[in-house]
Amino acid sequence: MDIEHPRRWPRWSPLRSSDSSVNAYDHNEEPNVIEAESLDYEVIENVAYRQDQASRGKLHYASYVAFKWLSVLLIGIATGLSAFFINIAVENFSGWRFSATFTVMKYSYFAAFLVYSLFNVALVFSSVKIVTKFAPAAAGSGIPEIKGYLNGVDMPGVLLFRTLVGKIFGSIGSVGGGLALGKEGPLVHTGACIASLVGQGGSAKHFVNWKWLEVFKNDRERRDLVTCGCAAGVSAAFRAPVGGVLFALEEVTSWWRSQLLWRVFFTSAVVAVVVRSAMGWCTHGNCGHFGSGGFIIWDVSGGQDDYSFYELLPMAMVGVIGGLLGALFNQLTLYLSSWRRNILHKRGDSVKIVEACLVSLLTSVLSFGLPLLTKCTPCPDAEKYPDIICPHSEGTYGNYVNFHCSNPNEYNDLATIFFNTQDDAIRNLFSTKTLHEYSASSLLIFLGMFFSLAVITFGTAVPAGQFVPGIMIGSTYGRLVGMFVVNLYKKLDIDEGTYALLGAASFLGGSMRMTVSLCVIMVEITNNLNLLPLIMLAVGDTFNAGFYEEQARMKGIPLLESRPKYFMRKKQAREACQSQKVVCFNHISKVGHIVSVLQSNNHHGFPVVNRLQSGETVVIGLILRSYLLVLLQSKSDFQTSDSHGDIRGHFTSRHRLTEFAKPASSRGLSIHDIHLSPEEMELYIDLEPFVNPSPYIVPEDMSLTKVYNLFRQLGLRHVLVVPRPSEVVGVITRKDLLSEPAEDVYLDEHPAVRM
Ligand code: ATP
Repeated sequence: MDIEHPRRWPRWSPLRSSDSSVNAYDHNEEPNVIEAESLDYEVIENVAYRQDQASRGKLHYASYVAFKWLSVLLIGIATGLSAFFINIAVENFSGWRFSATFTVMKYSYFAAFLVYSLFNVALVFSSVKIVTKFAPAAAGSGIPEIKGYLNGVDMPGVLLFRTLVGKIFGSIGSVGGGLALGKEGPLVHTGACIASLVGQGGSAKHFVNWKWLEVFKNDRERRDLVTCGCAAGVSAAFRAPVGGVLFALEEVTSWWRSQLLWRVFFTSAVVAVVVRSAMGWCTHGNCGHFGSGGFIIWDVSGGQDDYSFYELLPMAMVGVIGGLLGALFNQLTLYLSSWRRNILHKRGDSVKIVEACLVSLLTSVLSFGLPLLTKCTPCPDAEKYPDIICPHSEGTYGNYVNFHCSNPNEYNDLATIFFNTQDDAIRNLFSTKTLHEYSASSLLIFLGMFFSLAVITFGTAVPAGQFVPGIMIGSTYGRLVGMFVVNLYKKLDIDEGTYALLGAASFLGGSMRMTVSLCVIMVEITNNLNLLPLIMLAVGDTFNAGFYEEQARMKGIPLLESRPKYFMRKKQAREACQSQKVVCFNHISKVGHIVSVLQSNNHHGFPVVNRLQSGETVVIGLILRSYLLVLLQSKSDFQTSDSHGDIRGHFTSRHRLTEFAKPASSRGLSIHDIHLSPEEMELYIDLEPFVNPSPYIVPEDMSLTKVYNLFRQLGLRHVLVVPRPSEVVGVITRKDLLSEPAEDVYLDEHPAVRM
């Protein structure tokens, strides 16, 4: 049934807004948008829900809470172990690659280069192959998609079991293969996948199924668990539990509840404990090349912990450079990623594979070739710097690398960055005890090369994080500024490593636009609280939109930002409705009619109306497309007459609540999956027990700003726009919600709840 509503105003479309390049999502022009589907966070208080609630006592509630804590414990343990596995694999692959390269280098440089580059290309090939053939949604960092999920939009495949497997093994290949990317974003995605799988009781498709965990099989509960998973990912990547909590709060979630804080905090703490225990097990050489490195902790305590007034200007300069370079990085990666997405990657998987292997080869050529052109430097005085390990023979790698040096007491500063794992390279750049370890020319070469490689690499079809490349770029220019300041103020006790740290914070701030969580993560990973005020100064938030928001927009994820646009103040709710006619159902509808309506459009929600004998129409609620599909498939509610099947108020649902839930990131049922005979098409179905009887309703002249805030703050999927109501039945104030007598009356009526 179509209801036409009068339009007194010209229709408004978001595509016509002046800011269309930023805000527009055209279903026709951008095919990716169609893939995104909103989540149903709203509680649908239909009959099945009310029956389910009525059957619950306090005992049930206690077990539900216990399950929630158990789930977050499982998420913490599984994320910590996954991170540990990735780190062991990456460190070992890097160790084998470097030792093989240095061994062969004693005989032939060319053979050493072949070994080095083949090792890298093989690992990258394995990564891109896994992603393209097995888990396409595992490409990239995954944070824009998770941000979208927590904003209320599900992209197909993002939280599946196969994506989790692809992310873990793909990250090992891409990071172990020496590409200019990190494993931190993928770890956040890994944590989110684990959380989603725990929430829906595993993956039935892959025979990993725990029925007893299905308590949380709905979008609302899964949202909370995925938030915990994100925090767990950051906590695992950086060993920064507080940073993990703040990252989830600041960067990925759109809704935050105070009850969630404890659970997120607990998950992060569990991860930290798991990672620490696993690392303790590895200290006795049980894990091959994996030692104390791998997990990011760059301890810079003991270096500069105070600063003079004169340093504030150069420190501010570091912040400005970070903001500019970060913005440039975002812009370049955005151009390149959208070119790839719209042109290059459309040519098929083989193009993606060749592209990733070529990028790997280019990275190998530059990282092997550039240090060959660099002059070696004498090792620092061993008596003055006893902590520093400088090589005494070719092939030693660690703090300083002897690469193509004629004298065993020399090191190659550029190779010191390239021929170390990224984590060790950053440890060197942040190092507070190694004044003049790098020459300015080497740092400049590295900056230019790594910045370009990071831009080119992001967007290839492999799992890729931007934290570590960002830290490497930032710490390089930070250290350059530090060298300049050391020369300028010779008498002051200034450390280059401190500037490297500020540079890293400023670049990440400029690119990702994180502020509070970034400061806390930097403090946690560097173990130096004294530098917090400086880091806070360096982290900027001024230029373009953040990296993840830009990427989400490019991928067609319709994120609702925290604030409505200014022009929305001037628009009314009715002007935002896209359709001329509202597609509704009668509360008792013919099966054939429902099928034909579902076939004729793609709407996900339909108002359900009741025609009174007086001819008036009353809206009795809203029914979701997914509910209609479940009802059509089960056929158990079909009836022969168009009258109420049950006496009102005494309906007993034949469906469990979880039957209506759709697994995360899957398309769920489609109308094409439903097969009905001509006789069944003639039957009726009473929709009333399945509708959401209390959808959110706004008057047609409510400002769009208010609608936006309602939508954003409550995580809604549908809002019904209605004419001004003709009468008011009451007014509720805050005190009505706190009324104790009302609670007593309820408890007397429902003694089971007291239990
Ligand atoms: P979501 O995944 O968030 O549900 P969507 O925008 O694809 O996303 P649709 O239900 O297809 O959801 O809605 C598309 C457009 O159609 C919206 O602009 C909305 O105003 C309109 N619309 C939605 N439901 C109805 C309906 N029952 N009758 C008429 N128009 C509708």
